[in-house]
Amino acid sequence: MIGLAGFLLGLVLGSFIKVLADRSLSKQSFWGRSYCTYCKKTIKWYDLFPVISYILLKARCKNCHKKLSIEYLLMEVATGLLIGFLFYQTSVNLQSIYNFKFLSFLFDLIFKTFFVTILSVVFLTDIKKMFIPDRIILPAIRIGITFITAITIIKVLYLYYYLNQTVVGKLLLPPHSDFFLRHAFYTAEPFLTGILMAALIGGFFMSLIIITKGKGMGGGDVKLGAFIGLMLGFPNSLIAIFLSFLTGAVFSIFLIIFGKKHFGQSIPFGPFLVLGSLMVLFWGDKILNWYLSLRI
Ligand SMILES: [Zn+2]
Repeated sequence: MIGLAGFLLGLVLGSFIKVLADRSLSKQSFWGRSYCTYCKKTIKWYDLFPVISYILLKARCKNCHKKLSIEYLLMEVATGLLIGFLFYQTSVNLQSIYNFKFLSFLFDLIFKTFFVTILSVVFLTDIKKMFIPDRIILPAIRIGITFITAITIIKVLYLYYYLNQTVVGKLLLPPHSDFFLRHAFYTAEPFLTGILMAALIGGFFMSLIIITKGKGMGGGDVKLGAFIGLMLGFPNSLIAIFLSFLTGAVFSIFLIIFGKKHFGQSIPFGPFLVLGSLMVLFWGDKILNWYLSLRI
């Protein structure tokens, strides 16, 4: 059920992502109604249903009958599947909808959906124009920091409130015990490691640009790397970066073997950062466990 809800939300987010990507590439305002790219006529709200409208209108504009880009349909379905799977996977461990765990689950879901949305926009713009727009990635970093800070504060305050309600709980608060402080620190871990990893990965990419004199990586990758560090924290963001380099290298070797590109020619790195991050978002624990099992 939750998976289906995620799929439907993903369909809507898909058209939203496509609009954000297109408008940030053509430097248009993000605000304002959707319109046909050919005749500029505003599209009626009842023709804006993802997938269904596309099929009903037979992929053509109602006004000028020009063919609509298949990208709309592809993005909607792809994002639908992505968010559907995300919702399904996140909800697997959910047992009750009446306790703090549920609130935690909701935060988690919103956080991950936001992350996937930004990654999808960047994926599109970088593939199409080798460009990661500041108008997307900078607000995304600000929203990410605000979100993680807010969640951390709410969780720590809730823990304090919860303990303070009972006699036994009060004994776990300072000055009686360090239980509360230890758990508060544990709760703040994603926030602390997120900030640290953002600085580390951003700095690492920046130094790569300086060493290679800007070949292969750009300022957009630095900001995207920092965003990924912030959102995934430690150790997940490191695994994501490692997977990005790995998939990027394998892909480049294939391109060179099949003669599509020659050595030294640049391909955008952003899409690989996105792929690495998605792999970690969905299977981070499995990948880490597998890696740790190799060392025994
Ligand atoms: Zn039109």
